[in-house]
Amino acid sequence: MEHKIKMEERGMSREAVESLLQEKKRKDLAYEKILSSMCTYPHEIAAYAYKMFLESNLGDSGLFRGTKEMEDEVIRMIGALLGNEKAFGYVSTGGTESNIQAIRAIRNRKRKEGLSEMNIIVPETAHFSFDKIADILCIEVRKAALDEQLRVDVNSVESLIDDKTIGMVGIAGTTEFGQIDPIKELSVIAKEKGIFLLVDAAFGGFVIPFLEERYEFDFSLEGVSSISIDPHKMGMSTIPAGCILFREESYLDELAVPTPYLTTKGQFSLIGTRSGASAAATYAVLKYLGREGLKEIVSECMKLTRMLVSGAKAIGVSPVIEPVMNVVTLSFPAAEVERVANALEERGWRVSITRVPKALRLVIMPHVKEETVKLFLEDLAEVV
Ligand code: PLP
Repeated sequence: MEHKIKMEERGMSREAVESLLQEKKRKDLAYEKILSSMCTYPHEIAAYAYKMFLESNLGDSGLFRGTKEMEDEVIRMIGALLGNEKAFGYVSTGGTESNIQAIRAIRNRKRKEGLSEMNIIVPETAHFSFDKIADILCIEVRKAALDEQLRVDVNSVESLIDDKTIGMVGIAGTTEFGQIDPIKELSVIAKEKGIFLLVDAAFGGFVIPFLEERYEFDFSLEGVSSISIDPHKMGMSTIPAGCILFREESYLDELAVPTPYLTTKGQFSLIGTRSGASAAATYAVLKYLGREGLKEIVSECMKLTRMLVSGAKAIGVSPVIEPVMNVVTLSFPAAEVERVANALEERGWRVSITRVPKALRLVIMPHVKEETVKLFLEDLAEVV
């Protein structure tokens, strides 16, 4: 096919480029009516820091020492939030990279020990990044069944373990239902059998510590080896900002390759050149908000979540599970859910549909306001 759009020989004027950008921007959706995404507007201070450190490259961190200090402090702050201020890790591009790296670390270790065939066990609700992991790391990913509350069934996990099992994954905030797996039970099994345990808290990591109800899910559980948590979701940072943490530094060594011509001896990140701006943005927003600010954001999201659920119940629509965090899934007869989703989309809402059971999925991110929930409920009532 012939390319119709090519780079011109001569550049355009600044005004012309700006107007092209405006035109493209108008085609993007604003977040206000988006209820299908786990991303949101970054906090203003995160955007400020991002711009300030735009050119900073953490892939060659000896050149950007200030940025590197911020990354190290982000790891300490998030480690402390998750029960271990001495955790080791780095600011990644998001949950996918963090999950890949955690499993890659244990895969590499076991490969050195002579294991060639390996498997990990994940809940059926695991994020699709684990399908990528199976492909990239050439390991089997076994899917454990769920209980009636859509948490992983620990008996199913145990039944899948064999002598080739190198890792287990528990999810603290499932992508589709916002449910928390029984991490404490998984941690006991991990400890007993000497199996690596990754907690995928990409979404829930910045939610669970601030909920009224207490859940055990982090490094305070001895069997937890690694945690994946995303500042670019509920951490109010800019995209891309994830974070991978390990209890032991030696797991970072499993990931390292030598970098002869750079300012550092080795590199353990998956990405080579990587954004220092993301680390700066995350540092700035965590410093600015503190735990109190993050808690306020979660409390507001949870208030609106409750409001949405009680409004839905009032019009005869029940949630699949009572929301644990700011993710609401609403039950409809299988044939009905697509019609409802389409009708809502016609009214400008962006919603999504879960796989099993099929349900309407709504994520109540910080861009959702009380007025938004009221308008949504009015539309839902009409559509239903
Ligand atoms: N893990 C969980 C639980 C998620 O919800 C997501 C994304 O929604 C990911 C991992 C992947 O994160 P990312 O899209 O930032 O790579």
